[in-house]
Amino acid sequence: MSHCLVTGGAGFIGSHLTEQLLQNGHRVTVLDDLSTGRAENLSSVAHRPDLKVVHGSITDQMLLADVICGVDVVYHLAAAVGVKLVADDPVRTIETNIYPTEWLLRLAAQSGCRFFLASTSEVYGKNPNECWNEEEDLHFGPTSRPRWAYGCSKAIDEFLALAYHSKYRLPVVIGRFFNVVGPRQVGNYGMVIPRFVEQALAGGPLVVYDDGQQVRCFAHVSEVVDAVIGLTENDAAVGGIFNIGSDQDVTIERLAREIIAKVDPTIRMDFLSYQQAYGQDFEDVRRRVPDVSRLESVLGRKPNRTLGEILDDIIAWKREQIAHKS
Ligand code: UDP
Repeated sequence: MSHCLVTGGAGFIGSHLTEQLLQNGHRVTVLDDLSTGRAENLSSVAHRPDLKVVHGSITDQMLLADVICGVDVVYHLAAAVGVKLVADDPVRTIETNIYPTEWLLRLAAQSGCRFFLASTSEVYGKNPNECWNEEEDLHFGPTSRPRWAYGCSKAIDEFLALAYHSKYRLPVVIGRFFNVVGPRQVGNYGMVIPRFVEQALAGGPLVVYDDGQQVRCFAHVSEVVDAVIGLTENDAAVGGIFNIGSDQDVTIERLAREIIAKVDPTIRMDFLSYQQAYGQDFEDVRRRVPDVSRLESVLGRKPNRTLGEILDDIIAWKREQIAHKS
């Protein structure tokens, strides 16, 4: 049994991770400022004596020193996330995503914790390759385009984590998440599947950006959380960077069609330019497919739930939510 600190533990991925850690018999402290996370994400485990939820910010250095006391493993997920939020508030992105990571790494190195750093496929930028492995170059756009602030901030976090590993022997594991989806994800920050599902359940139309030919791979949060814990607890993963996601690719137009077919085939699909959707300075990534062979070789498995199964789960969750509210 370990004592785990999950920063961002009331968020979409963080809350699923917290539940799984508790289920595996660990004690968990969650630190979350509830800016994008929500207290009700933890409602199924809120009563547990082995869970402590601290409402506060990772930008509060004193609080970080306090919550890390007695902790064996840090899962650092708290960050400014979502393409829309990041484009809207680049200062907050940089302040939230860089300084607190360094403070946490320093505290973890002092107390000998194991450290999982949540990173992102955004670090690859607009790399033109078909499929991205962890040793690829990073292809960011110009600093005048706010989108790249997120990927750059996370790339700096990775450099910091690797530096603490080589200089202080801090056992770090870095996971780059690729379009993680599932129940509890909200569409406010740009995430496509919750937005499409909400649009479909409201009778449409589904609003596809650009020509809909951009490609993504969607992984179910339960399989992502399983990979995060599996890697963090595995000595062979220490010091490594891992793509974590599905390698089944789909265009956004096909994704919209699948959701329409599942909810109501009469629903319309509309197309909207990036400029209208995100503003003038926006640049999208056309194709994002991970090479997950490194993950598979260390863990012996990779996320493999089909898009159809994933969509069924999310649609059922969203329907339940709507029924609960009315
Ligand atoms: N997208 C869309 N309609 C929406 C939201 C997103 O067509 O309402 C597109 C978006 O332009 C991108 C893809 O769906 O190409 C995935 O967007 P998301 O924000 O979920 O994640 P990203 O992969 O861009 O980080």
